[in-house]
Amino acid sequence: MEDQQEQRCARVAVPVPMRRQFDYLLPADGADIAVGARVKVPFGSRSLIGFVTEPHVVTDTPPNKLKAIEHITDPSPLWPPSMWELLLWAAQYYHHPLGDVLAHAAPIALRHGEAPEFQQIKRYALTDEGAAVDLDSLKRAVQQRKIIAALRERALTSTDIKALELAPAALKTVQEKGWVSVAHEPLGVGAWRLERDEQPHPLNPEQAVAVAALHSGLAESEARVWLLEGVTGSGKTEVYLQAMEPVLARGQQVLVMVPEIGLTPQTVARFRARYKVPVVVMHSGLSDQERLQGWLQAREGHAAIIIGTRSSIFTPMKNLGLLIIDEEHDASFKQQDGFRYNARDLAIKRAHQEGFGVVLGSATPSLETLSNAQQGRYHHLQLKKRAGNAKPAKHFLLDLKQQRMQQGLSEQLISTMRKHLEQGNQVLLFLNRRGFANALICHECGWVAECRRCQANMTVHQHNHSLQCHHCGASQRIPRQCGGCGSTQLVSRGVGTEQLEQCIEQLFPAYSTVRIDRDSTRRKGQLESHLNAVSAGQHHILIGTQMLAKGHHFPNVTLVALLDVDGALYSADFRAAERLAQLYIQVAGRAGRASKVGTVVLQTHHPEHPLIQELVNNGYTDFARSALLERSQAMLPPYAAMALFRAEAMEKDAAEALLQAIVAVLEEDGTGEVTAIGPMPAPLARKAGRYRYQLMLHAASRAALHKLLLSKLSLIETLAQTRKARWSLDIDPQDFT
Ligand code: ADP
Ligand code: ZN
Ligand code: ZN
Repeated sequence: MEDQQEQRCARVAVPVPMRRQFDYLLPADGADIAVGARVKVPFGSRSLIGFVTEPHVVTDTPPNKLKAIEHITDPSPLWPPSMWELLLWAAQYYHHPLGDVLAHAAPIALRHGEAPEFQQIKRYALTDEGAAVDLDSLKRAVQQRKIIAALRERALTSTDIKALELAPAALKTVQEKGWVSVAHEPLGVGAWRLERDEQPHPLNPEQAVAVAALHSGLAESEARVWLLEGVTGSGKTEVYLQAMEPVLARGQQVLVMVPEIGLTPQTVARFRARYKVPVVVMHSGLSDQERLQGWLQAREGHAAIIIGTRSSIFTPMKNLGLLIIDEEHDASFKQQDGFRYNARDLAIKRAHQEGFGVVLGSATPSLETLSNAQQGRYHHLQLKKRAGNAKPAKHFLLDLKQQRMQQGLSEQLISTMRKHLEQGNQVLLFLNRRGFANALICHECGWVAECRRCQANMTVHQHNHSLQCHHCGASQRIPRQCGGCGSTQLVSRGVGTEQLEQCIEQLFPAYSTVRIDRDSTRRKGQLESHLNAVSAGQHHILIGTQMLAKGHHFPNVTLVALLDVDGALYSADFRAAERLAQLYIQVAGRAGRASKVGTVVLQTHHPEHPLIQELVNNGYTDFARSALLERSQAMLPPYAAMALFRAEAMEKDAAEALLQAIVAVLEEDGTGEVTAIGPMPAPLARKAGRYRYQLMLHAASRAALHKLLLSKLSLIETLAQTRKARWSLDIDPQDFT
């Protein structure tokens, strides 16, 4: 009897918030179903796509409760065994439901049950006639000219056409003229061979050392990790490009992970320009089907270079030889909701399982990575000089105490700006928008406009006369009267990028100003066109936020000023200092490329602060050394392990009550080496109407923390209090808001 049952049931991970799997009867054609096979199963009143974790099990589900698999979507697994192992490991390490991990790792089209098959795609290319067209003859047909010019660079798919905002009507015209042809090709089928398209830079001595080390290490095809620490503009990208050449020449693939593709169009273009091999870019602008096609190309080995953001770590690769993580310190490699994985950490794990090399590149490596390098786990390569002839920037502190200020600008800064502008150079003003938003205040009674649903101030947006909440998106017209005393004396306080832009335009009417932030770059292509206008010298003053700190080169910017970053000095988050240091160095790195010496000015009320002193006088490396020392003395990561329970609820006490119940469960048999801190209100104590609480777990050993969680989570899931509050668990949390 039992034998028969064993033949007939499979264990399936389904995407539900439960840390357990479910058994289903196998259909008649399911005899040889494999681990990792995708199946459709009934769950409650729905049908869900799940994955078989054990093909033949003895079930303890009572026969009357046992349901059958509806459909075997693919009998063979979607992932190769090594990736499957990685996903199982990730579910365990992050204590996240396996079904949800697997669903997350699969492209959306596959989550919805579509078949993993290559499809035909439309590709537009120039005909011989089209290639011969004189662009100047199209002066009046701007749209047609744009299309022909774009197609001279490379053939385009429909998505490319959309992304480049090429006009459909003009596309039709150029086809009718016989200049452009459409081919329906199966995507990416076929082999590729490495061909170089562009001569590399001759390397400087530091770059040459790094490239040589990478070439010899990568020839071993085993897991090795290099930290490539190179000051901004030191030519890290050139090192990546040359490091990958022998890898590609061997027919192996390269995965490049970047923080945000939209912010670094130049990087993608540089990879495309160097090698004539199939490059797949995974970005959020793709349709589900296109993403699937890219994923298949990677899995089948048809793509040579894959460039993507954090989720590309889940792309199966036929023959991965090298994984590069650019700006490895960037917070975006950590997923902040749902399955809260860290793509950088998973990359290292994956490298050990599959045996390939990893290069972690940054001007400001994370303290975790630096400590791994210090302990000899990673090879440390350094580029201390800027590539070409660029000179290092000069750094100045500007004490704001008792200074007369205009919209956040000290008079001294204004006169420094004037000097640089008069010499024909560009100036970049950096505003840390977070925590420095512009609030609406009553001049009579001090009332501040707050969001009704969040414990946060509303932000004034002058361009559409609204108040907006940056936490929940709530929006309303700017009120005329104070909500406290009814006075009409409402003023906005603090400086947002918009206010700064207005103020700058008044102070420097002879110069053109451009603002680069989320609001001014919302539309597709806007960021690129702003950046191009800056390169072309159309603007003299750039005002920007975090977006500007990432990877762009502004050769004519000679003055970079950080207006207010003091908030980070008081933050309760132990990573705030590290973040500030990284931001400072990254922003400062925008100054003085090419032949011009750059100046970096930091306005602060605390010029004597040790962190500020260390950064400005000694640079990131020294800062990082003392920060690591502090972390080790305070027993903080990377010298300790942390996990964070979060809970939120509409009802005032429900979230706290749930976390108290969790503490009770954790402490039942003693927590050993693990300390539970809290529950306490989250720094943003209310968001979108929900009350938010946190519970922090801290342990000297990772193993102790994991053991405790593993033994308690199934009990925690069933707590009665979970019905009134949402909760989540974050392993190695990066963000404490
Ligand atoms: P990073 O990524 O370290 O900030 P990049 O790789 O973008 O630096 O290089 C900065 C600039 O220096 C780029 O314009 C690049 O083309 C140039 N560059 C890089 N290596 C060299 C070299 N060996 N000689 C001359 N210029 C170089
Ligand atoms: Zn809100
Ligand atoms: Zn008032």
